[in-house]
Amino acid sequence: MNQAVSVAQALKKVSAGTDISISGWVRSFRNDRFIQLNDGSCLASIQAVIEPEAHDETQRKRITTGSCVQVSGKLVDSPAKGQEVEVHVETLEILGDADAAAYPLQPKKHSLEFLRDIAHLRPRTNTFGAVFRIRHLLQYAVHAFFHENGFFHVASPIITASDAEGAGEMFRVTTADPVRDEHSDVDHSGDFFGKETHLTVSGQLEAELFAMGLSKVYTFGPTFRAENSNTSRHLAEFWMIEPEVAFMELEGNMTLAEDLMRYVIGYVMKHGEEDLIFLEKRLADEEKSKPQNERSPMGLREKLRFVLENPFKRVSYTEAIDILRNSKPNKKKKFKYLIEEWGADLQSEHERFLVEKHFGSPVVLYDYPADIKAFYMRQNDDGKTVRAMDVLFPGIGEIVGGSQREERLDILQEKMKQFDIPEESMWWYLETRKYGSCKHSGFGLGFERLVQFVTGMTNIRDVIPFPRTPGSAEF
Ligand code: ATP
Ligand code: MG
Repeated sequence: MNQAVSVAQALKKVSAGTDISISGWVRSFRNDRFIQLNDGSCLASIQAVIEPEAHDETQRKRITTGSCVQVSGKLVDSPAKGQEVEVHVETLEILGDADAAAYPLQPKKHSLEFLRDIAHLRPRTNTFGAVFRIRHLLQYAVHAFFHENGFFHVASPIITASDAEGAGEMFRVTTADPVRDEHSDVDHSGDFFGKETHLTVSGQLEAELFAMGLSKVYTFGPTFRAENSNTSRHLAEFWMIEPEVAFMELEGNMTLAEDLMRYVIGYVMKHGEEDLIFLEKRLADEEKSKPQNERSPMGLREKLRFVLENPFKRVSYTEAIDILRNSKPNKKKKFKYLIEEWGADLQSEHERFLVEKHFGSPVVLYDYPADIKAFYMRQNDDGKTVRAMDVLFPGIGEIVGGSQREERLDILQEKMKQFDIPEESMWWYLETRKYGSCKHSGFGLGFERLVQFVTGMTNIRDVIPFPRTPGSAEF
């Protein structure tokens, strides 16, 4: 029996001369002899060489792009350029045919839009193989970072009865039939949970409860937002990483965000090089179709290295507003939303101006006006601003949003009143401030935005296996 191996093993781990068998999908078959076989274990395909005489014509006709085959034979040094080894096939078995005339993936370049429509088959392409191997590495690195730094993972709930955070952006969870449209006068007593419930928009409030017991925790799970924004940075279902740390103030929070980013990016640069090089070329090709002045001056790995080597610029909201107010695009009315006064909410065009044009590096903006941020953020002594922070990245805009939390019971109650949040709905949250309250901080890192940054994929729909967006949940 030949040893069953993956393509990655055959190319890197097994020595020439070994009898092996490999299963995978045919990428191409040329000259009736050369099969490019890929099983997704790595970017590269392996060349399997058959002797036409050894396989009758009916079988050879079934070796088509997309078909699934198992080859057995000897791994040998390859005479061909660009590969060290190849398989000399002794036996070949067709595991699954793919009708050549109908199979949608051909050995040529397909547009990302086209591939989104066949999201069930796109894992078989080089680009999506690379993206999802990198996504896996990032996910692994996130857990490794927290584990090595003494954090405990908390599984925050996906179904939640608290809607303090997501007003208007939440998906309802119900078994009631029919679901009535009028939110306010529905009687929920007969429904599954006996009250109104939703899919969570964030695990933060629950993470806070655990931080005030286990000190350093994080969540890493799916979150849901019914926001009707068809952008390249928003999904209705996305994954969020939310650390929450007791006894930590805002400066520590900023440092934690930087350390996390550097660790995971460094990990991928070390362990995902083959895929990164491929994605870098892909991105460079994509950039060529853009006007000169919109092209990024840096290649993908250069951009990643830049983040590893340069501290993020820390800038207060007030300083940022001054910079934006006096900026060229503001004076020439090039911004869609002009910055006129202190208190304005920053749009993605402003965030990107700061990061890409003004500072030329990732930026941490902090101390935002209280009015444009959530009720739980810690009030500063000026009475106007809160200890919020957003991390802004080139090409992405906001990638992290976080804050030091309000730990003082009276101020928190006052804030909830201002935000019209009934105390009864959050009694459990308030009890952490009543009993043994302490300073604490945390943030949310959108995992797909991180994957976008690391892979250089422009559209967020291309970095999650099955994107959920308004009007679209096919696969
Ligand atoms: P944005 O202004 O981009 O909508 P936000 O202020 O609503 O972001 P937060 O509520 O602070 O975002 O969420 C924390 C992080 O989650 C964001 O920094 C971002 O990385 C990510 N995120 C937020 N909304 C989405 C979404 N709809 N799809 C994907 N990621 C998201
Ligand atoms: Mg939002």
